[in-house]
Amino acid sequence: MSEQHSNRLLWAMLAGVVGGATAGTIIGQPMVGIEWIGTLFLNALKMTIIPLVIAAVITGVASLGDVRKLGKIGGYTLGYYASTTAVAVLIGLAVVNVIEPGAGITSEDINADNSYDATERTPIGFSDIVLSAVSPNLVAAAAETKLLPIIVFSLIFAAALTTLGAKGQPTLKFFESLNHVMMKMINWIMYLAPIGIFALIASRLGKAGGGMAFLHEAQAIGGYVIAVLVGLAIHSVFLFSVLRLSTGKGLDFLRHLSKALFTAFGTASSSATLPLTISGAKSAGVDDRAVRFVLPIGATINMDGTALYEAIAVMFIAQVYGIEMGVMEQTIIFVTATLAAIGAAGIPQAGLVTMVIVLSAVNLPLEGIALILSVDWFLDRFRTVINVWGDSVGSALVSRVMRS
Ligand code: ASP
Repeated sequence: MSEQHSNRLLWAMLAGVVGGATAGTIIGQPMVGIEWIGTLFLNALKMTIIPLVIAAVITGVASLGDVRKLGKIGGYTLGYYASTTAVAVLIGLAVVNVIEPGAGITSEDINADNSYDATERTPIGFSDIVLSAVSPNLVAAAAETKLLPIIVFSLIFAAALTTLGAKGQPTLKFFESLNHVMMKMINWIMYLAPIGIFALIASRLGKAGGGMAFLHEAQAIGGYVIAVLVGLAIHSVFLFSVLRLSTGKGLDFLRHLSKALFTAFGTASSSATLPLTISGAKSAGVDDRAVRFVLPIGATINMDGTALYEAIAVMFIAQVYGIEMGVMEQTIIFVTATLAAIGAAGIPQAGLVTMVIVLSAVNLPLEGIALILSVDWFLDRFRTVINVWGDSVGSALVSRVMRS
């Protein structure tokens, strides 16, 4: 795609976001009728994910040349993920302690969604997260777009491939070619993005009954919404500074990644956005090996926005119930929110499900989730943008390390 073409598409996507928000706010309910257009875009993206991830991870790892390099790069990547997620949770905790969005309101003040049944949700533990990384049935994992087992398989597959020398070459060539084909397809699908994003945002606001109805519903927990948005904004600036200081990249990098960020906002799914994140990072000049290795893993386990939001949400629930969270409890929230974010899949509102881990760790009632349910679809979009931004910055950093 030429530079001029790419810029036009970017503006069209921005128009999709703004237009979708405006149409959904003003027209409301009837916009649900165009939801299928958004679903079409989402499905088109999703159909590329499995072949893309397999081809990208295998060729990414194989191109490192030596399996031992994998350890070094893997170490940097995981170190980056862990430290930035920890900073995200700390920012969340700082913001929620300063703003105290739940102080002075009770659960009766909130239009809680009574249809929410906490017992329906299976609690997730640490062992479940580890177990979810290896699937006995790859086809079943692929059918459910469970990326983590696919990535683990591809990593081991690639490691084995690199030990085979000439015997492995035909397989490697096949996956290299597959990777090119998938990138081409993604370039085509991107043209659907402006209208797809428009439809996704407008129809979701339509479902909420339009902008005014949504504002009315969210009013009682406005402080919570503001706390999450402020926290996410601070973290995005933090990530930008990390990018600037360690790679020298800045606004131009952000511009290249903007298509992915708009798509993250439209789809509320890091996994569905992955094809565009990969394409954006490539065009921003990130080393191909870093793109293929760091981004698929990041889309599944690195979720700064989700971690930050989980910490704020749990503290908010405690404040509404009038339950004091001391240093000890907040330390537990710090650890478990990080785990919950790692465990969350890159799909819409996955963070809401893994929040059970955090709530149970500090003995808060799981029903508390009902208090924040009405605005979750809205906040989900913002935290997904930060999740994707965190992955993108990570790929630039690792690329820098690889080249040095
Ligand atoms: N929707 C988020 C993502 O895909 C996950 C979450 O926070 O619910 O990144």
